Amino acid sequence: MQNATLWRALLGVEKTVVEDIEFDEDEELLVAHVRPRARARARGRCGRCERRAPAYDRGEGRRRWRALDLGTVRVVLEAEAPRVRCPEHGPTVAAVPWARHGTGHTYVFDEQVAWLATQCSKTAVTELMRIAWRTVGAIITRVWADVEALHDRFADLRRLGIDEISYKRGHRYLTVVVDHDTGRLVWAAPGRNKATLEGFFDALGPERSVQITHISADGADWISTVVAEKCPNAVRCADPFHVVRWATDALDEVRRQAWNESRGAVTQRRAGRASGHAKALKGARYALWKNPENLTSRQQAKLAWVAKTDPRLHRAYLLKEGLRLVFQLPHSEAKEALDIWIGWARRCRIPAFIDLQRRIVKHRAAILAAIEHGLSNGRIESVNTKIRLITRIAFGFRSPEALIALAMLNLGGHRPVLPGRK
Ligand SMILES: [Zn+2]
Repeated sequence: MQNATLWRALLGVEKTVVEDIEFDEDEELLVAHVRPRARARARGRCGRCERRAPAYDRGEGRRRWRALDLGTVRVVLEAEAPRVRCPEHGPTVAAVPWARHGTGHTYVFDEQVAWLATQCSKTAVTELMRIAWRTVGAIITRVWADVEALHDRFADLRRLGIDEISYKRGHRYLTVVVDHDTGRLVWAAPGRNKATLEGFFDALGPERSVQITHISADGADWISTVVAEKCPNAVRCADPFHVVRWATDALDEVRRQAWNESRGAVTQRRAGRASGHAKALKGARYALWKNPENLTSRQQAKLAWVAKTDPRLHRAYLLKEGLRLVFQLPHSEAKEALDIWIGWARRCRIPAFIDLQRRIVKHRAAILAAIEHGLSNGRIESVNTKIRLITRIAFGFRSPEALIALAMLNLGGHRPVLPGRK
């Protein structure tokens, strides 16, 4: 075969003999006939464990693997796929140097898909590579498995954040572990219970578990139980942004109640027409949620209107803001401020905030620990936001493993690189 070196470079393969190139004009498909360079006739390597093994049979004959397009032309590699008799795995298709075992795409094809999946939209990846989104899911799962095998992602962990993230429109959950010091996503698994989290500590191992100095979480009991058992020395902290979110949720409950009440009052008088008050309340949502320093002048006006017309809702707003401010104080002042807040909330006569107050009391030590040890809240929150975005992109993958692979490839500190650019 002429220009064999050039063809190997164009196809992105190594340790491979290019025997022939043929162009199918009807299909606009370039077929490269190849074989592994080093394989002796009588022996090969097991596709699963890569150990040398004697030949078994011809398997299912010739097979094809999708390679990267050349210009606008689709390309496949075609080769024999004989089986070897592995001492451990029995008759298994022999390993090939251009693709992962049991897949229909070459290494370079996989690498490019993984890179694209972390960089562009679903449509961009599937259109450009001419594959289904589910295939993208399968590809990034195996790319991540290889990246994972190459790196020790559990080295030097000291301060961790543990969280649960919903996916599949909130019907399923992932437990995620983030490194506070680097902002890396360290680990993720489907489920949100003791067994899920124990899986993490088992992977981390007992020696490294006891070296963890700080753990922040959202206050869920199943997390505290496992943490107390696996790293008894770690300082347990509450993630401030979770606590503030509890307050925002409580405020939202009060706002919805006020809205329903004003709407109900109207329906009794004039059926079918929402009052201006109910509408305005609905519109006040963002003014109530946002931090005061970021309010637009319209939102400020809205808030002033709430203060005048709905003192109870305004009180709820001030309680939410008060709690948020506690986290901006130095530790020495935060303790007193938190206790003042607890007293205020206890007497506020708003059920949602009385419940919140009980929850805050329960987690008081962990909240103060978070402030004292200055756990970088913004970092965990930004990782959280990114994972939530990824769960939306990953919608349509067949398995949670593909979602986890996409999250790990994006946020785990080892992002894919384009083939041929190393
Ligand atoms: Zn084997």
